[in-house]
Amino acid sequence: MVVTGCLGAKEGVVAKVHPSVLAITGPHDTEGVMQAVHQHLPKPHDPYVDLVPPQGIKLTPKHYAYLKISEGCNHRCTFCIIPSMRGDLVSRPIAQVMQEAENLVDAGVKELLVISQDTSAYGVDVKYRTGFVHGKPVKTRMVDLCRALGDLGIWVRLHYVYPYPHVDEVIPLMAEGKVLPYLDVPFQHASPRILKLMKRPASAEKVLERIRAWREICPDIAIRSTFIAGFPGETEAEFAELLAFLDEAQLDRVGCFAYSPVEGAAANALPDPVPEAVKEERRARFMAKQAQISAAKLQRKVGKTLQVLIDEPGVGRSSADAPDIDGVVKFKGGKSGEFAQVLIERADEHDLYGRKL
Ligand code: SF4
Repeated sequence: MVVTGCLGAKEGVVAKVHPSVLAITGPHDTEGVMQAVHQHLPKPHDPYVDLVPPQGIKLTPKHYAYLKISEGCNHRCTFCIIPSMRGDLVSRPIAQVMQEAENLVDAGVKELLVISQDTSAYGVDVKYRTGFVHGKPVKTRMVDLCRALGDLGIWVRLHYVYPYPHVDEVIPLMAEGKVLPYLDVPFQHASPRILKLMKRPASAEKVLERIRAWREICPDIAIRSTFIAGFPGETEAEFAELLAFLDEAQLDRVGCFAYSPVEGAAANALPDPVPEAVKEERRARFMAKQAQISAAKLQRKVGKTLQVLIDEPGVGRSSADAPDIDGVVKFKGGKSGEFAQVLIERADEHDLYGRKL
């Protein structure tokens, strides 16, 4: 017998009265119930799905995987058409997400990259409903998810974190080593007027204050962000504000796109579009500035020993490097999928070079 429903949230109460029940889960926990059923009553053989391994079929190398926690987005940034295509936020149940994470870890994954359209909104749509992971209540909430993933003893990297205030709560987990000290948080711009036109939150001042506070709690944090240059109506002065922000923020990893009028985006109707050549020229100036910042920051890593996860012999990534979008650490030797310690001897604008210890 499996007990499920509201009272299941108080597991101890039910277990005390009925110690022989096989499992107790909270409300709406279909996944938890099915797990308990399959544990005690194995699924009949199905030749069509039984060859699919428990971790599913993934296209990434064996040692890292993307973990999608939700679909859709409740924001309406004026340059973006994702909500019109994918709808509002729908969070996956925490038990399901954790089950997938555990399956991946069992299959040899050493790094999980948490993704979604809006990672920090995880659970908003279900009012942070409590789910059950191995019988323990866990809220459908980014910080709780990070804590649970952190217990798996692998690298956990957070992507697409919208800068909500509660993001601050995850920084101490980075300082504790529960999740990687890496935050991919798209700021998009720094001028208050442009941010307003984009329907994005926060002022550059507040963002800078928060970045300072994050670094105080977790000095090793690598912050990645993306920006748009040449948004409709962006003046040279507003673009200069963005460059000044970059100087102040000293971000570790940065991407910049020239504004592209995607069909259906509300921003396309804004006045004073920036000519194509100006957009491109601003993007190039932005990237040149960031290249200087990045080179100086990476130079400071020379002489340090970093833990890297090896993607292929001679190429690995440190905690500051997400696959495909950030830099790498180069050295001699090593085996794909293993961790190594590398003494950094040299740096350029994006990558580090060293000796495997
Ligand atoms: S840019 Fe990101 S936060 Fe904004 S609407 Fe698109 S998906 Fe949502």
